[in-house]
Formats: sequence, C-alpha cells, structure tokens
Amino acid sequence: MNDARILLVDDDVALLEALPQAILLRMERVQIDTSETATDALERITEVDYDAIVTDIKMPVMDGLALLEEIGKVRPGTPTLLITGHGEHDLAVRALRGGAYDFVAKPIDRDYFIASLERAIGMRRLDREVERQRLALERHASVLEHVDDGVFLVDDAGVIQHWNPAAAAVTGLTPSAVLGQRADDVLPDWRAVCPTIPITSVPGPGSTGARTLPFVIEGREVWLSISGVAFEDGVVYAFRNLTEERALDELKGEFVATVSHELRTPLAAIYGSAQTLLRDDIEIGEDKRQRLLQVIAQESERLSRVASDILLANRIDSGRLQLETRPLDAARLAEDVVEQMRSCFAERDDVTLELIATEPASFVAADEDKLRQVLINLVDNAVKYSPDGGAVEVRVEPNLTSLRVSVSDGGLGIPHGEQQRIFGKFYRVDPQLSRGVGGTGLGLYICRELVRRMDGRLTVSSKEGEGSTFVVELPLAAAPAAEPDAPVVQHA
Ligand code: ADP
Repeated sequence: MNDARILLVDDDVALLEALPQAILLRMERVQIDTSETATDALERITEVDYDAIVTDIKMPVMDGLALLEEIGKVRPGTPTLLITGHGEHDLAVRALRGGAYDFVAKPIDRDYFIASLERAIGMRRLDREVERQRLALERHASVLEHVDDGVFLVDDAGVIQHWNPAAAAVTGLTPSAVLGQRADDVLPDWRAVCPTIPITSVPGPGSTGARTLPFVIEGREVWLSISGVAFEDGVVYAFRNLTEERALDELKGEFVATVSHELRTPLAAIYGSAQTLLRDDIEIGEDKRQRLLQVIAQESERLSRVASDILLANRIDSGRLQLETRPLDAARLAEDVVEQMRSCFAERDDVTLELIATEPASFVAADEDKLRQVLINLVDNAVKYSPDGGAVEVRVEPNLTSLRVSVSDGGLGIPHGEQQRIFGKFYRVDPQLSRGVGGTGLGLYICRELVRRMDGRLTVSSKEGEGSTFVVELPLAAAPAAEPDAPVVQHA
C-alpha cells in the first residue's frame, strides 16, 4: 500500500512544525505536506489527491470554513479535520455541518487527534477501494453487454437483477420486461427448468458442462445450452442459442434415416432378384427371368436417382450449381416430358396422362435440363401419389408476363398444414397419409430451388383426398433468333 498523504494547513508556524512531529511519532507510512495559507493549500489540493486534510479554522484572508467549502468543490471525497479554538463550539458545529469529517479543539489532545486522523485515512482508503471496485464492476458489466452469450443474474430472492442484450435478443424479452421481476413469473417454464440447470461455484474449465434444454418462448421452441455460476448473492446464468444447430442435427438424423431406407428398399429388391437368378436348384422360365432382370434395372435406376438427388441438393446448398438459362419452348418440353412419363408408367394403366397447351409455342427463359427435371419430378409425384389411379394433367398457359406450367392430379392430396412444409429438405408427409409411397423428401425441395434460380416460382394448391395442383411460373422470353419461324410470344 502507498504512504498516506496528509496536508496540514495553519498560519501558526509553531504548530505547523509540532504537529507533523507528533504524527510521525505515532503513525507509520505517512507523507506530510504543510501550507501556511488556505490559498497555497488549495493549489496543492488541486494537484494532489490527499488522504486527509487538517486545517486550522481561524486563518487570515481565507479561513478554515471557506477552505472546507472549496475542498468540497475540488476534492469532495477528501476527509477534512478542523482545528478549533478552545470553547469555539459554534464554529465546530458549523464545520461539521459544512461537511468536515471531525474537529479537534485546542489544546490538541494528541491521542484523540491521531485516532481521528487514522479513521479519516482508513475511510478515505475504503472509499477509494469501493470506487475502484465499482469501476471494475461497471467495466465487467459493459463487457457482458457485448458478449454473444445471453447472461442474466437471479438473486437469492429469485429476482432477475441483470439481463444483457444477447439475453434479450435470443429470448425476445426486453430488460424492462424482466428486470426486478421474479424469474418464475417472467421466464417460461423457469420453475421446472431451473433445478435441472448445472450450477457451479467455480467458473471456467473443470466446471460442470452446460445442459441443452428446450424452452417455449412466444410460441416457438428454442433450445438453449445453459449453465450457472453461484455467487454470494445469487446465480449468474449464461446461455447460448443452439436451436439452429439442433435443427441441423435433426436434419442430419432424418437424412440418414430417409436415405438409408431409400437405399435399402431397392437394394433388397436387386439382391433378391439376383439371388433368384443365381439359383441352380430351380427352373426359371424366360418370362420370370425377364421380370427379375427388369426389377434389377428399375431398382438400380431408382438407386442412382436417389444418389443424384442427394448430390444435386448438396450442390444447390453450397451454391455450386450453374444454370444455363436461355429461351426455350416450354410447350414442346412439356410434351416431351409427358411422352417420356407415359412410357415410364406404362404399367400404370389406371393413370391417364394428358397435355393441354393453349398456345402452340410458349417461350420461357429457363435451363432446359433443369426445367425438364422439375416437370418429370412433378409428374412422377402426381402419379406416385395417385395410388388409386386417375387423370394427371399437364397444362401450359401463358399469362401477361409469365408462363404457367401446372401439373394436376386427383390423388391423395396434401393436408393444408403440410402444404408449405413439403418444399422443405427431406420433408415427407406422414407415410400413413401417403399410403406408404416411398421417397427421399428431396424432390420438391430441389424443384423449388431450381425454379427459383430460373427467376420463377413453384406453388401448390391441394385438398386432402381430392388431389393437388403444382404450378411452375416462369418469365416469358422472346423466341431465340436462331429459330426465325418460331412465333415470338411476348417479351419478359
Ligand atoms: P418424396 O416424393 O421423395 O417424398 P417430395 O419432395 O417430392 O419427396 O415430396 C414431399 C412430400 O410431398 C411427399 O412425401 C408427399 O407426401 C407430398 N407430395 C408431393 N407431391 C404430391 C402429390 N402430387 N400429391 C400428394 N402429395 C404429394
């Protein structure tokens, strides 16, 4: 600790010599400055932050009371002792009222004087320490304001005393809504969740790890990784929003489950057919042989479709997909697709596939391969999700600035609440509702992303049990110059 610094102010030169000696005799580690006038004292006080000031009350020009007032302005925290004349009680009272720390009457009782001075220095040091800690706390608090983790303090009475901006951002609960409130009252599920949060008394490495828990905040489920550190007057909780990471984990789980199922089914069919063909203990007729080979060919194709869907979705996600958009005749493309799908579903004689094009040629700006893939997917779904058969209709009709290609079926339909979710990656409607029709849940995700990249949009309207209509809307384009005979439908 530094030496205590004391300033003695007195116009009585004899006292100004005697007092320091008395102090130095009784106190250690003190540095004493002296001033014969209040004016000189004020100059020193402005320069040095003394631990205590002792001043005579009666001095010419500026007396002790006036000096006390000035000290109050320049160094309001410095304790000041006033020396009063014998019997000058009134002055002593005025000094105390004026903010003096204590007064010492002449003739000076040295023991009392030293004791009072020591107390004054002790108090000043305590004040300084409190101020230092307050500043440190303020600094820490301002650090907390800027951390990415949510931080809040719940005191022993269960009342929230601190709530940083990250806590507000994650939960949507503003400081004014929670500060001073009981955590039980304002934090959802707090009563149930609080006892399950790991609390340590030592922050940092080695302390118990955080727990990831679900909270329902304003109707949405939020997963927070949370832990607490106990202090004397409460617990400081820190949390991090892991909702996205968790959703990603769930997606990964779904991916593995769906893909392994989608791979296992065709693999089992291929394996079974190949095993049958390999048997030499039974006669296999030519018909059956052909059917088994067909299963192998079809299921291998299905496997390769699953693999290429996964790769394509991955390329879309990583932004590595390049599209070559140029004017193309969508009516002709739709016709091609309908032809191709008719032969694909040749065995589904319960399904009819119809093309209705209101204009002979309708040019759009699109990537031909990708648009073909989108239409194949939509027609494939329309047939797949019409297990009882029915009519599937592909309709091409230009609007003012866009072209609509719609694929309608009279199949299972999609429940209202699922109609937006089916475009999500790996999302599949409950297999119970889709009568166990298989798939990866990637098709519509890929379709929507591809159409978006061609500046178009893909929408659905559907009624459960009655069928669905998927609509691709693409910007119209002029017919390419290379085909001078093709009619120009409209400029996009
Ligand atoms: P997949 O068909 O591989 O499951 P999709 O992304 O193509 O994946 O479709 C997502 C879900 O949307 C399907 O699981 C199905 O439940 C529903 N769906 C798509 N097209 C239709 C349709 N034409 N009729 C009824 N349901 C459909």
